[in-house]
Amino acid sequence: MGVSFLRANLCGAALLFVSLSLGRAAPAPGQAVPEASSPPSPSPSPTPILYSPQTLSDLKNLEKTALTNDYAYRQVAHLANNIGPRLSGSAQAQQAVSYVADELKKLGLDVQLEKVMVPHWVRGEETAALVQFPGQAADTTQKIVLTALGGSVATPPEGLTAEVVVVRDFDELRSLGKAHIQGKIVLFNYAYDRRMAVQGRGGEAYGEAVVYRSDGPSAAARLGAVAALIRSVGNASYRLPHTGMTKYAADASKLPAAALTEEDADLIAHLAPQGPVRLHLVLTPQQLPDALSYNVIGDLKGSEHPEQVVIVSGHLDSWDLGTGAIDDGAGVAVAMQAASLVRQLGLHPRRTIRIVAWMNEENGLRGGKAYAADHQSEIANQFAAIETDGGADHPLGINIAGKPEVKAMLEPVAEILRASGAGLLQLREGVGADIDPLRVLGVPNFSPIQDSRFYFNYHHTAADTLDKIDPQQLAENAAINAVLAYALANLEIPLPR
Ligand SMILES: [Zn+2]
Repeated sequence: MGVSFLRANLCGAALLFVSLSLGRAAPAPGQAVPEASSPPSPSPSPTPILYSPQTLSDLKNLEKTALTNDYAYRQVAHLANNIGPRLSGSAQAQQAVSYVADELKKLGLDVQLEKVMVPHWVRGEETAALVQFPGQAADTTQKIVLTALGGSVATPPEGLTAEVVVVRDFDELRSLGKAHIQGKIVLFNYAYDRRMAVQGRGGEAYGEAVVYRSDGPSAAARLGAVAALIRSVGNASYRLPHTGMTKYAADASKLPAAALTEEDADLIAHLAPQGPVRLHLVLTPQQLPDALSYNVIGDLKGSEHPEQVVIVSGHLDSWDLGTGAIDDGAGVAVAMQAASLVRQLGLHPRRTIRIVAWMNEENGLRGGKAYAADHQSEIANQFAAIETDGGADHPLGINIAGKPEVKAMLEPVAEILRASGAGLLQLREGVGADIDPLRVLGVPNFSPIQDSRFYFNYHHTAADTLDKIDPQQLAENAAINAVLAYALANLEIPLPR
């Protein structure tokens, strides 16, 4: 009793602030506000009821049940270990579509496959070696560990050889100019900021560095380079390269592009000031014709407003180096668990809870874009969208991309999630790649706030595998999905847009 008593009082203080800042009257029944801490009404306006007492009790049950349930872990284990990497257009991606559709049918959901044409890029050989460098012993080369960036064009089959120019950023590239870049291989040696990551700002550190992956190759091409390399984005150690999509600009030629491990980027950056460093590079990826694939959609029909949908989602495709466990098998699995728990507890949401396994987040976002385009005519009925795509580590609460009032409306939900340390509410501009096209059309977006300190150790590398998932922390993410989805599905009033 002691701990919960303390917590109730601490939370009461926070709730008091929210009520006052809204200019609300004393909490109405069903708002989960501790009555002892309710202030005298500062305003005569009536307080809308947000959640019925029954809903609040169901939410508590969902939270408790989610934390001791291994459904999501079993699902991500199947996706990662039995099916494996699921790059768009691959046989494994197709297998994953069938598998998730079948699993959602087993839960009694109304399942649809919505067509999406996806890019079909296939990784080939990828090798590199320093063939000339200061201090080189006779007849030796040094192996360089790298991986092609997603969408990269190939080198000639026998490879290409050129001197490497190391730059930290775009400014340094521009200051060197065409005279120093023409005919060379450019290495962008921009480091992912580990200090930001240890502060729990892994996503922001990623955002700062990833621009060299997306825009570096075209910037180098405009100055006449023959290939572009980047320092891997992320804090992977142990000489693991990190892949991810590059983006060729229309006004630049397409250069073969790859990411070096941090260690290999450091090695070249160490040697280059001492004298010429020449690299032999072989990349043989192929861009095949677009392939037919699907977003998998499973509806748990609403009892009062079946036409209004609350999307709970993750993306089914993954990069090909690992097995796509944390990115984003985990996100699909916790979304599926939301439906599984609502079924298990025999609950009937007022609005439809729609589980979506998106296709092609990683190298095209075709699934998210197609859904928004296909459902634009009924956008008012797209009530809300949740996506989990930040791994499987401990969630601290809920990110909200919507009107500031939405945050206060979710306070009773946060109060329930506080029991597992997930009671934070945070307004953000955008919270999920696949649901962002819906946000642009006015649909409130949500995601769990996930611990990002370790995510970029593994993300997009060969080490994105099942062992990186802690079943208990995965269950905490599933709890957020289930509680938030059911709360939104049963919210007594519409969300402001
Ligand atoms: Zn992802």
